[in-house]
Amino acid sequence: MENLRIPGPTPCPEPVLQAMTKQMVNHRGSEFAEITNNVTASLKNFFQTKNDLFILTGSGTGGMEAAIVNMLSAGDKVLSVSNGVFGDRFATIATTFGADVTTLKFEQGKADDVDAVKKALDSDPKIKAVLLTHNETSTGVTNPLEQLAKVVKSYDKLLIVDCISSMGSIDVQTDKWGIDVALSGSQKGWMVPPGLAFAAVSEKAWKAHAASKMPKFYWDFAKAKKYLEKGQTPWTPAVSVFYAMNTSLKMMEAEGLQNIFARHAKLGAMTRKGVKDMGLKLLAADEKYASNTVTAVWPPAGIDPDKLRKTLREKSKVVLSGGQGALEGKIFRIGHLGMCNEKDIENALVALKSGLKDHGFAAK
Ligand SMILES: *Cc1c(COP(=O)(O)O)cnc(C)c1O
Repeated sequence: MENLRIPGPTPCPEPVLQAMTKQMVNHRGSEFAEITNNVTASLKNFFQTKNDLFILTGSGTGGMEAAIVNMLSAGDKVLSVSNGVFGDRFATIATTFGADVTTLKFEQGKADDVDAVKKALDSDPKIKAVLLTHNETSTGVTNPLEQLAKVVKSYDKLLIVDCISSMGSIDVQTDKWGIDVALSGSQKGWMVPPGLAFAAVSEKAWKAHAASKMPKFYWDFAKAKKYLEKGQTPWTPAVSVFYAMNTSLKMMEAEGLQNIFARHAKLGAMTRKGVKDMGLKLLAADEKYASNTVTAVWPPAGIDPDKLRKTLREKSKVVLSGGQGALEGKIFRIGHLGMCNEKDIENALVALKSGLKDHGFAAK
């Protein structure tokens, strides 16, 4: 079997795959309503929220688009804080739908700077909403969300956060930190195939929804809320992925939220130590902000990371991710979220060391 070490889609436990072989049921019947209600309630616990939570059929990016079109109107001023590909994507979606987006960008590998966000909010009182990425998957950086949220909330702005590759793996206290729309996606830390996006929606977000004029139909949170009262979704959902979620969430509940966070912290530290011990450098140079779900690594000078990845896949069945955007062909990334244990990381590190040797780099 492959050791799939990419930051989504992540490998699925056998019981989760088995759950997906179950026959279809009526998605408007009582059996499916029970599944929908169970999955929703359990997700709320993992999101640490009492807000409404909607399960949308679509990938994470669909959830991002849903957040934009449900919260904003064309011409609304939005502050987009970005330190990578996914932060940029959020800004692009908002711009596409006509928001007036100011971007505050940070260098690749650096975290969002809390003071700079404060300054940006100070300099433009008309800003209505702030878009943040909690865990920037393209660079392996986890932004200081609690501190960033504190600043955004002190200005009473709407806070929309892409927690797609952190929720359920790294601590995100949706309600306590005042996140108005928190997003995730099934194929990241949830150990489930792609197909579902999750959005937790606060009271303040509902007020923004009432004022929002951006066009919305498929993603309309008001429709989602109305149908959820009957344990349904407005449109036919990805039924099999709901089955998978229902099984994976039970496994996650058995492990426990805090234990899951601790496991990811351990795997993150282990991965970072492993690559550093080989003499490689992390993109997240300030390790305080290094992600516990994905590690981005600079290859040694002269080694093509994509060729290195090919060697690892062919020789050792270890699959790593490449770089995205400006980092394409420049870095490689190791995913360690969802179903992942120390053996998986050990195996990946052994393969990496051997692959580096094949490419002429004698790892320490
Ligand atoms: C994976 C991911 C997304 C969404 O990607 P999809 O391919 O649409 O599921 C968005 N933001 C972050 C930070 C991600 O890691």
